[in-house]
Amino acid sequence: MTKEIIVKAHPKYISQFQKGFPLLNKENVTTSIQDLQDGDIIRLVDNNNHFIAKGYAGIQNKGIGWLLTWKEHEDIDKDFICKKLQAAINQRLHFYYSEDTTAFRIFNGEGDGFGGLTIDYFDGYYLIQWYSEGAYSFHEEVMEALRELTDFKGVYQKKRFAQEGKYVEADDFVEGTRPSFPLLVKENGVRFAIYLNDGAMVGVFLDQREVRKKIRDAYSEGKRVLNTFSYTGAFSVFAALGGAIETTSVDLANRSLSKTIEQFSINDIDYEAQNIIVEDVFKYFKYAIKKELSFDLVILDPPSFARSKKHTFSAAKDYKNLLKEAIAITEKGGTIVASTNCSTFNMKKFKGFIETAFKETNGKYEILEEYTLPEDFKTLRQYKQSDYLKVAFIRKL
Ligand code: SAH
Repeated sequence: MTKEIIVKAHPKYISQFQKGFPLLNKENVTTSIQDLQDGDIIRLVDNNNHFIAKGYAGIQNKGIGWLLTWKEHEDIDKDFICKKLQAAINQRLHFYYSEDTTAFRIFNGEGDGFGGLTIDYFDGYYLIQWYSEGAYSFHEEVMEALRELTDFKGVYQKKRFAQEGKYVEADDFVEGTRPSFPLLVKENGVRFAIYLNDGAMVGVFLDQREVRKKIRDAYSEGKRVLNTFSYTGAFSVFAALGGAIETTSVDLANRSLSKTIEQFSINDIDYEAQNIIVEDVFKYFKYAIKKELSFDLVILDPPSFARSKKHTFSAAKDYKNLLKEAIAITEKGGTIVASTNCSTFNMKKFKGFIETAFKETNGKYEILEEYTLPEDFKTLRQYKQSDYLKVAFIRKL
């Protein structure tokens, strides 16, 4: 049996831990973490050395490890991982059977009982993401479980445990066969070009599936659409397929131009009829005001934090101002889709930003609908922060 390191819970947090809170961090334990090594099995106890839960050490930007079981005699081994993976797969069988959608998340970290690890499915290929060296120390067991429970064509991985959770540059191929890239997958009938071995991002953020569908099905017909922070232009493609008369995609990264052209092309949309602009969004807003441009649908999906030459953008500090820029170029009666993946504030606070932005521009609005993570991005009731996605469809009145 693996040696267990005893870690004492901070008295203030004991009841939370007992109820299933899964994240260990410096503040909620009293044991010095200096002797902890990534991959150590941790036995969390209270002041009287009574067992609370068991987990592993994994030093991440958020926390020092994850609790995995509240049963004292349950071992964290291949069988344990197999059980968790099987349960996760069982809950997603309808995705496997779908012909319209061939990309989804099959394992979502602590939501599926193993923090620090996610697994996505791309038409027969699996992408594992490890969020710490500690999580990675289980790679043999996870691979065995995948071999046993799926018949994958191939497996890729991303190690996200360089400083502050940054991606470690590597050949990300693990096992099986290598497809030729782009790998074409489908989401609600729309194609995506996926690159599993080309850096940290693969071409799509799967957590926005429902938002994309809604934009296509209910908000695009006959509309002029502005998609900011557009990356591969996923929202623009859905808008165009939903009947938008014009889409404009704006992203700072040079790669976004060829990626967006590719996204339109594989969906048989003439990209030359769309606007694809490589530019700082904040500069584009100024240009749009000067040229008196306006849009019926404006999509805002910034990263939580970004630094460009002129700007540092932090969602927690700057989202309100971003909204004000968007309000200025949205038609009356038009819609702003405001999205954020920032986990440091919740929906209530996000709605506060929306309220203030409209107040400061003397405008009126109505929130039409709200989205959080889709069901394949399973979250844990005891750990609210894991439900990071917040999307509001806002009508400018
Ligand atoms: N909305 C995208 C995902 C956005 S990822 C989608 O649905 O797929 C965040 C993107 O913001 C990245 O592509 C990054 O290049 C871009 N970005 C960051 N800062 C920016 C800025 N100041 N102006 C324009 N784009 C920016």
